[in-house]
Amino acid sequence: MVQIDDATVPLKDCFWVLSDPVGCAFASTIGPSAVEEEAAHRELITRQRDRDRQTRQGWTVQLLSREQWRQKAQPCFLGRCDHRKATA
Ligand SMILES: [Zn+2]
Repeated sequence: MVQIDDATVPLKDCFWVLSDPVGCAFASTIGPSAVEEEAAHRELITRQRDRDRQTRQGWTVQLLSREQWRQKAQPCFLGRCDHRKATA
């Protein structure tokens, strides 16, 4: 079980999400594939050089509940989020 905001949820119901510096979701993987942010980043981005660059640039890895994933990450993957509109 993991703590997300005020809720305790099973890790299997969570998703790790890698977001770019504006907060736009770039990649995601299922909760059980990693135990903490760094491991999830390794899971998503295989080359250390790429991970280091992303970390320097302000990319973040966050654990989201299924509901948060639906609200915050799914629109990005579908190309319907506000992040892209803002930069377009
Ligand atoms: Zn986005």
